[in-house]
Amino acid sequence: MEKKKKQIAILGSTGSIGTQALDVIAQHPNKFEVYALTANNNINLLIEQAIKFKPEVVVIANDKNYLVLKDALQDYPIKVWAGIDAISDVVQSDHIDVVLAAMVGFSGLKSTISALKSGKTVALANKETLVVAGEQMIDLALKNGAPILPVDSEHSAIFQCLNGEGVNKINKIWLTASGGPFRNFSIQQLQRVCKEQALNHPSWSMGAKVTIDSSTLMNKGLEMIEAKWLFDVDPSQIEVVVHPQSIVHSMVEFEDTSVIAQMGVPDMRIPIQYAFTYPYRLKSNFKTVNFFQLSNLTFEEPDLKVFRNLSFAYDAINKGGNMPCILNAANEIAVESFLQDKISYLGMSDVLEQTMQKVSFIQKPSLDDYFETDMEARKIAADIINKL
Ligand code: MN
Repeated sequence: MEKKKKQIAILGSTGSIGTQALDVIAQHPNKFEVYALTANNNINLLIEQAIKFKPEVVVIANDKNYLVLKDALQDYPIKVWAGIDAISDVVQSDHIDVVLAAMVGFSGLKSTISALKSGKTVALANKETLVVAGEQMIDLALKNGAPILPVDSEHSAIFQCLNGEGVNKINKIWLTASGGPFRNFSIQQLQRVCKEQALNHPSWSMGAKVTIDSSTLMNKGLEMIEAKWLFDVDPSQIEVVVHPQSIVHSMVEFEDTSVIAQMGVPDMRIPIQYAFTYPYRLKSNFKTVNFFQLSNLTFEEPDLKVFRNLSFAYDAINKGGNMPCILNAANEIAVESFLQDKISYLGMSDVLEQTMQKVSFIQKPSLDDYFETDMEARKIAADIINKL
């Protein structure tokens, strides 16, 4: 590995990926340094992180919290900025080697665009960015020589399976899904699901949004779209396979029918660290896979009639244009409403379906169109929820 410490900006440092990234950094203080930390609202944790990691800059997106943050850090040589635009500014700093985009949802789009435009290596955990505007993001990355390194465990797996394969053609990607807490549930059983059950994921520890998305298989739908853009494959080449043990993180089948899989314990710190160190690997003390204890690795086909959100994702990407953006906005509103007990578990799928029918379709959207579409879709989804 290189001698110089990598300077890392963590966008969304108080979230699940952000805190695990800081854990990786804390374990390797001679390899990594935190240049910037940004958070939306969680001021107390941001202050704690800033005091521990001494970044150059901290940014709080919600500027109502600015004075509290500034006050708490006044004795430290840390610049304190506020507002969404300040996040887009900070990622442009010449000092930064890697930007970890770990915000949740559409709100991560602007700062990721800014990082790509300034040619930064982007460790991408914010899958919604590629779901909403994948084509433009990949264009920006190529045009500006800004590598996008996947942090999502499945995409990190696929990326690792493709290492050194060059121009070798692939038949398909096997995108693994844990199946979430409601694997094998019927529609009738899903009708009675409450948020406490949905928030209780069997194998991965994640933030609330992605945990709900995992339980509905929306997460896998978003990841299918993410994989389409990252690896330049057709959606028909991406097969979702339910693998409850979460040991195989995804697989690639090449045209000679050989399949390469990447495995490991389900621990997000492994793909986060790999994105920080790529193309190198770094010795770590994470738990290891004990194959003697893994007598039972299972693989099942997902039921798209029960987990409708996954089929909406295929519909959206096949339709193209701004449809994945519409799907994503509707889903963000639906999940938020479910978490606030405003709609039922299956009501989330109804919101997605109806919003996709109602929002104006644009075949060739510009980047600005996505911001319009996102607003319109959120409004329409909220209207649908009010009428439910
Ligand atoms: Mn994932």
